[in-house]
Amino acid sequence: MRAYNFSAGPSTIPEEVLKEAQAELLDYQGTGMSIMEMSHRGAAYSAIHDETIANIKQLLNVPEGYSVLFMTGGASSQFALIPLNLLGEGQTADYTDSGAWATKAVKEGQLLGNVHVAADCGKEIPTRVPSIDELDLIDDAAYLHITSNETISGAQWKDFPEHDCLIADMSSDILSRPLDVSKFGLIYAGAQKNLGPAGITLVIIKDELAERCPDTVPTIMRYKTHITSNSLYNTVPTFPVYILCLVTRWLLAKGGLEGMQKQNEEKAAKLYTAIDSTDFYTGTAVKEYRSNMNITFRIANEELESKFIAEASERNLKGLKGHRSVGGIRASIYNAFPVEGVDALISFMKEFEANNG
Ligand SMILES: *Cc1c(COP(=O)(O)O)cnc(C)c1O
Repeated sequence: MRAYNFSAGPSTIPEEVLKEAQAELLDYQGTGMSIMEMSHRGAAYSAIHDETIANIKQLLNVPEGYSVLFMTGGASSQFALIPLNLLGEGQTADYTDSGAWATKAVKEGQLLGNVHVAADCGKEIPTRVPSIDELDLIDDAAYLHITSNETISGAQWKDFPEHDCLIADMSSDILSRPLDVSKFGLIYAGAQKNLGPAGITLVIIKDELAERCPDTVPTIMRYKTHITSNSLYNTVPTFPVYILCLVTRWLLAKGGLEGMQKQNEEKAAKLYTAIDSTDFYTGTAVKEYRSNMNITFRIANEELESKFIAEASERNLKGLKGHRSVGGIRASIYNAFPVEGVDALISFMKEFEANNG
């Protein structure tokens, strides 16, 4: 039996996608070999590669002048590549600090250049992201970096600030809602949360930004290299791209991101209603910034939290333990997470409260 997998990442992949990958694992479309055994420059893989880029462009309505890239090293590498490519000598970049992931981005930025923290609410409890009004932005910043969804704390930006060069780490909410890509200079996301398996990082970049990169940056670390080579400068992780291709087909078949947003909002609202309907559970994030992807909450004491997680696991509700740095309970309910799993968790929460409240 498949579990209801609430893991924050790697995380649930649509069952239809896994079944299709299984069906063609040994013999991809009559070629007599697996897609992962083929050249990344051959016809079969090239078709997958180009379709995945086209599907992402379609889903997000990516405007002219932007490139969709597949890179490696996770979102964590982007923390370094962004300042390496885009933060010139003598320039300063604005960063918002909204929690664990934003803090990591700030620290990498500080290793490579001047960083100004435009808002810091990263250690507040209840957790939140900054409001647009409170941003203390400097003039002529090389860019403004934000974290659109804090996967650990469960806080999410609902609207985005205006900036000449807005950069967003969207690792845990990319493709969960429609987006006006033209408002951003660069968007990036590790695939293992809301896109597919670990191993690739999706980058959407405004091409003209890539020209800023100093000549001293190694070739493979320049966005320009990946733009001009169509992400085929070196061997791209072909199998993760293939799975991402199937996920993008699945999203298109479901009607794209508007329908996905509606479903995500409904799933999250159900869970938050269950949390708010009793004093037994307490949401971790400030209400107006609550994430639709990572629902974080607490029970009065840690012993009960451990019991909750253990008993949930016996009911096939897996991966509910909060991040090791903060504890508590976290239900990650990305695009592929089924509504039946949300309903099962809510039933369990009621029963657990009745037995332990
Ligand atoms: C998981 C995560 C990361 C780190 O991703 P890696 O691919 O492991 O480097 C960065 N930012 C956010 C928001 C995340 O959720």
